[in-house]
Amino acid sequence: MKFNFSAINLWCNKNLVDTEFVIWKILSENEKNNINFFSDPLDKKVEFIIINTCWFLSSSREEAEETINYYDDLWKKIIITWCYLPVRDNEFLLRLKNLYLVLPMDEEIENNIKKTLKEKVENFKNSKINSYFQKINKTNINKKAFIWNWDSPRLPFNLSLGYEYVKISEWCDNRCSFCIIPQIRWNQKSREIEDIVKEIENLVNLWAKEIEIISQDTTRYGIDLYEKPSLFALLEEIEKINLDFKFRLFYMYPDILTLDNLKKLKNFKKFIPYFDLPFQHINPKILKRMWRFYDDKHITSVLDFIKNNFKDAFIHTNFIVWFPWEQEKEFNDLLNFAEKFEFDSVSMFWYHDESLAASSKLDEKNDDKTIEKRVKKLAKVLDKIYEKKEENRKWKEFIGYIYDFDDKNAQIREEKKAPELDELDVVPIKNIQTWILWIWEKVNYIK
Ligand code: SF4
Repeated sequence: MKFNFSAINLWCNKNLVDTEFVIWKILSENEKNNINFFSDPLDKKVEFIIINTCWFLSSSREEAEETINYYDDLWKKIIITWCYLPVRDNEFLLRLKNLYLVLPMDEEIENNIKKTLKEKVENFKNSKINSYFQKINKTNINKKAFIWNWDSPRLPFNLSLGYEYVKISEWCDNRCSFCIIPQIRWNQKSREIEDIVKEIENLVNLWAKEIEIISQDTTRYGIDLYEKPSLFALLEEIEKINLDFKFRLFYMYPDILTLDNLKKLKNFKKFIPYFDLPFQHINPKILKRMWRFYDDKHITSVLDFIKNNFKDAFIHTNFIVWFPWEQEKEFNDLLNFAEKFEFDSVSMFWYHDESLAASSKLDEKNDDKTIEKRVKKLAKVLDKIYEKKEENRKWKEFIGYIYDFDDKNAQIREEKKAPELDELDVVPIKNIQTWILWIWEKVNYIK
């Protein structure tokens, strides 16, 4: 029998890396040529669908259940993995007609895949589901830290666009009051520097031009392994790799980010001056309520240093609007902060109670009426900043990667901007300074 499967990755790029490993792990078991991967889950030949779920926000939870229901109704056999499982709704899962397997992302996963493929190929019995649940209930699912090694190959999805994600650590030691990730994924587990360097060499030799370095908290990389923050020790080793590529850092949690460390970044030729700094807010009282241990003075010193030392810097941040206790004064602090520092891109979230999050127990919740007003007000300020920046980019020359093109225009990601997060430029073909156009090509163009 054939094991024809596809995979769907919901939400974050950290999940995507795991999905890529799982796919390759399954394909590497293809002794009898009976295993086929299809990128389109709706392909008629696809019998099994792996759904890598997210549970970070109620909206991601709903999306996970909707996606599972959708393919269940299409009579595809469902394999569920990752964040939905530790806090799953058993009733929901048991109502499914075609739930085939739950695949915890733990140190058993490679054996589970091997065993399941072997078992599946032969026979499929409903009873398996219940035994999996019984087993799961017994073991604290996902409480045993698991992270893939560089020598476990993966199916790099984004290589054709010139970049790939490299996860340097998993999970998180912080306990931000609005976040439930530590409850789903437990404490931080870092990979060894040598392991990460090998994986990067591997991906660059496979034509990756950009390495997107990700984790839950990149600034704290290595604390669990080397007993001290070791991000910059890692970057020094990455800088020594004698290959042509660049790297970008995501999720730079700001509290232990020092000016000395920022100074070191100036020496890394491979570093793309992209600063992903999830500040969430600027008002000290709100930051305290978020259990984020830095204040407006620290934030301002970090931003001033970046603006004065990295002329080509691109700064991305996250804001949470309407957090409990945020009155007009605190909100105006956030507005003024956004206006003063003119961020290049901002991901704006509006607060809502997550039942498992500590902040859901906070009093002084705002009334619904204020939320729309505040979100609109902040969006207006941000749009005005983006318009001004776009105006300044006109008729300037940039370097970027072609994502798509037709006979008139091309969609280009400016090299400085992050894939999947920041906007693409739509550029008339005549403004592109290259003779041959093809996807992923790195080109110079006039905006
Ligand atoms: S740093 Fe805070 S928000 Fe980010 S994953 Fe950790 S606990 Fe959650």
